[in-house]
Amino acid sequence: MGAETQGRVRGVSGSLVEAEFPRTARQNEVAYVVSAGRRLKSEVIRVAKGLAVLQVYEETRGIRPGEPVEFTGKLLSATLGPGLLGRIFDGLQNPLPRVAEEHGFFLPVGVELPPLDPESSFSFTPLVKEGDLVFPGGAVGKVPEGLFEHLILVPPNLPGPVKVLSVSDPATLSLADEAARVQDADGAEHTVRLSLAWPIRVPFQAGERILPQKPLITGIRIVDTLFPVSLGGTFCTPGPFGAGKTVLQQITARHARVDVVIIAACGERAGEVVETLTEFPRLTDPRTGKSLMERTIIVCNTSSMPVASRESSVYTAVTMAEYYRQMGLNVLLLADSTSRWAQAMREISGRLEEIPGEEAYPAYLESRIASFYERAGVLRLPDGRTGSVTIGGTVSPAGGTFEEPVTQGTLKVVGAFHGLSRDRANARRYPSLDPHDSWSTYPGILGPEKTALARDVLARGRETARMMKVVGEEGTSMEDYVEHLKAEFLDRAFLQQDSFDPVDASTSEERQKHVFDFALRVLAADLSFPDRNQALAFFQSFVSAFLDWNFREMDSDGFQEGERELERMLAEHLAKAAPREGEASP
Ligand code: ADP
Ligand code: MG
Repeated sequence: MGAETQGRVRGVSGSLVEAEFPRTARQNEVAYVVSAGRRLKSEVIRVAKGLAVLQVYEETRGIRPGEPVEFTGKLLSATLGPGLLGRIFDGLQNPLPRVAEEHGFFLPVGVELPPLDPESSFSFTPLVKEGDLVFPGGAVGKVPEGLFEHLILVPPNLPGPVKVLSVSDPATLSLADEAARVQDADGAEHTVRLSLAWPIRVPFQAGERILPQKPLITGIRIVDTLFPVSLGGTFCTPGPFGAGKTVLQQITARHARVDVVIIAACGERAGEVVETLTEFPRLTDPRTGKSLMERTIIVCNTSSMPVASRESSVYTAVTMAEYYRQMGLNVLLLADSTSRWAQAMREISGRLEEIPGEEAYPAYLESRIASFYERAGVLRLPDGRTGSVTIGGTVSPAGGTFEEPVTQGTLKVVGAFHGLSRDRANARRYPSLDPHDSWSTYPGILGPEKTALARDVLARGRETARMMKVVGEEGTSMEDYVEHLKAEFLDRAFLQQDSFDPVDASTSEERQKHVFDFALRVLAADLSFPDRNQALAFFQSFVSAFLDWNFREMDSDGFQEGERELERMLAEHLAKAAPREGEASP
């Protein structure tokens, strides 16, 4: 370690260390504070001549003025390469299960482990030959990784096109082995290995950004039909404590039709995160029957972990997401909760004595939130394929009101807003998305007319319910009363879903369309009843038969029987024939 890279601790304040430094330190470079035999990892977050403020990723207790600081000149980076899938990391990409074996669940101070085992080896197949031109971010070869072909990529930031000088024959290579030698457009030569380090605050991407348009099928009916998310889009899920944010994300992680899922768990309590860590690896992938972890990465930080590591965990997660997108995969990144991330920012900003903005959050809160969600998107890769990163974040506002900086800053930048409602959760109406508050700017699977119709029914149903509270059922016309029952039917039988039922937990696109069309006919039907009681009784048994139908596999006889039974029940109360498409009136 040369004198040029050595500094000394001047003072400590919480997780921040001020260090004297001979040269000008680099913003965001990694430095190690060497204190009582420990090497504590930190990142330079403010620089001035001869002085650097370090955000330390470890407990700072015991650090004394005068202790040495080693500056590395390298930006805080994630290791990218085959073998990331199936892993559990902390916010600095320390692998957790290995940590668990050695030290219990979480890391002791000053322990740093390689994110990927450098000894691990993979069967490499070249995809280029000497003399070929490759675009930055393009592949020189591939190795198998679980369900996927993991592409070995040319770093996306090289000036391109890049010329292949040599490439390995098919062989078993370990992570640090050379896969290819390339020369960039400026003439500089580079070695491409199976793994590379990439600064987490810089997007890993090469290609053309295109507009998100294809729906991401989550299998959650209220999302896919009314408040859809596009592949490569962004959405947020704010909700008060206990409203069902974490459960909703777990269902989404399990059932969403994407290739890779990355969970950034920024836990409220250690217990919650440990729950994710122990439960998730036990889940099976509904599509492959194998462990869901084979296509999942978990990045997790608890509230008891150092604040700075919590702040960086979302960047570690999104960098890995971008890496798999660059291979042409669809990646879903779920962050729970972004409020904890924002609070980490607030704490650090407070220590830096920056001028506080609203609710003591830093003035740059909104721009940080925006630049995080901007890392989502669809990328047309140099080889013509596309890949996507979709980002969904939960927000857990203190006090439960959405009128607070993190929720407000987030809803300015996301494409869909899934507001969870305390009332719906209390009434055990799950998923507890509020159909009146939520919105989406993405095209869904139903088409705008059908979506508008459903919204309209729900809005009128709510109006009628309000009116009934004031004037009582007696004061409501029969017509309005039936409208109200229809809205309740749509809500209970279609929008709500039993996430613990093996069939109902996730609904295919085909089934959603089929069932929604059936529900639409119910909503449009001119039903007549002798009195309110009979109307109520009909809807109660109809909803219950519908729920029963939801539990039947679509390609079963039971499904068709269920549908015929519903048809029969409906026909009994049709005032006049409601013609079906392409059919004569009965
Ligand atoms: P939050 O993350 O918003 O604080 P959770 O997701 O942990 O809330 O949900 C709190 C509790 O609510 C869960 O432990 C569970 O009992 C119940 N719950 C939430 N969502 C569902 C759901 N979709 N189906 C059934 N129960 C749910
Ligand atoms: Mg939660």
